Amino acid sequence: MPTVREIEQSLYAWAPRDLAESWDNVGLLVGSESREVRRVLIALDVTDWVAEEAIRCGAELIVAHHPVMNCTWHKVQSVVDDNAQGRLLTKLLTHSVSAICMHTNLDAAEGGVNDVLAKKLGLEGLSLLNEEKIGRVGTLKCEKSLEQFLQDVIQSLGCQGLRYRDGGIPVRKVAVGGGACAEYIPQAIALGCDTFVTADVKYHDFLDAEGINLIDAGHFETENPVCEAVRAYLAERFPQLELVLSTTHKSVIKYYM
Ligand SMILES: [Zn+2]
Repeated sequence: MPTVREIEQSLYAWAPRDLAESWDNVGLLVGSESREVRRVLIALDVTDWVAEEAIRCGAELIVAHHPVMNCTWHKVQSVVDDNAQGRLLTKLLTHSVSAICMHTNLDAAEGGVNDVLAKKLGLEGLSLLNEEKIGRVGTLKCEKSLEQFLQDVIQSLGCQGLRYRDGGIPVRKVAVGGGACAEYIPQAIALGCDTFVTADVKYHDFLDAEGINLIDAGHFETENPVCEAVRAYLAERFPQLELVLSTTHKSVIKYYM
């Protein structure tokens, strides 16, 4: 059976470490590199319930998108059980569950978060949105009304709802940035996109975004589709592995209307 390190190296062949942003923390973050792996749980985040799921299903390894520690969130100075982060890391180590996280390198990688998102939304002729290679631009086969496109986004990403600003134009040339990519709104406008689909958009981002349909489809919803791509990638390279997509990890954000 492959080791944790071999699986990490294989994921790096797809999403090289040097594609990650300088502030990011990617790769094998918790566990044992020499441990042999039979079962892998794949999830967007290593939450407490994902760790429980891994233990329950007997997975030796979790492959996740967001770093479980030492990123711009979850700063770790110590691993002690008086806080949730310490308890989570302790739980993983106690049960010998390793964690590999592929974050901004997987955002940028070909076939990664943003390519998967763009294809889910039916975009074709994809190109890069920005230098960081985070985000894609593509076109729909046919122009759609914003109303129709919003319905399609909800349908294809499984959103419970979304927030948007109507730019007053139909949808054809669309930029996507999975997760928090509102900083790239100016690039989307400069490239002549009529629509930008991303997440975590702030009030002032909406106010400033003139002349473009700006859609906040949710952080989980715009990124979670990559989990299936991770599963398919590992299945091809390690046919002997049992690959399990998390069934417990869902967005904790609900809409009340
Ligand atoms: Zn994210």
